[in-house]
Amino acid sequence: MPSHDHDHDQQIDPTVSCEKCDAVCCRLTVVVMPDDEVPRHLIERSDMGLEVMARGEDGWCIALDHNRMCCGIYEQRPAICRKFAMGSAYCRDEREQYRHRYDREIPLLLR
Ligand code: SF4
Ligand code: SF4
Repeated sequence: MPSHDHDHDQQIDPTVSCEKCDAVCCRLTVVVMPDDEVPRHLIERSDMGLEVMARGEDGWCIALDHNRMCCGIYEQRPAICRKFAMGSAYCRDEREQYRHRYDREIPLLLR
């Protein structure tokens, strides 16, 4: 039976691993919900007035531990981050986009 796009989106690719990833999902806009227990100094207000995780000039979430490339507030991370599944369609899309951006940037860096 042919699989539907919906099924495909639900599939987890088991070959994807956070350990071999530059934590690219931590470059997305992360909305902080009222029940989240994120330290306040890590939150900023978006142009649309939403509370979001602040991001550094490099584009990564301010809470990222750059030495280990993983969440520096793991126990207090927002609900959205908890739901983001490794190997999911969202994860794979973000990795793909990041890879394209990176590929394009290499020649610029070598100039
Ligand atoms: S969830 Fe996906 S995008 Fe995020 S760090 Fe893991 S492998 Fe990378
Ligand atoms: S709070 Fe943690 S998991 Fe969520 S985007 Fe920031 S560094 Fe990543």
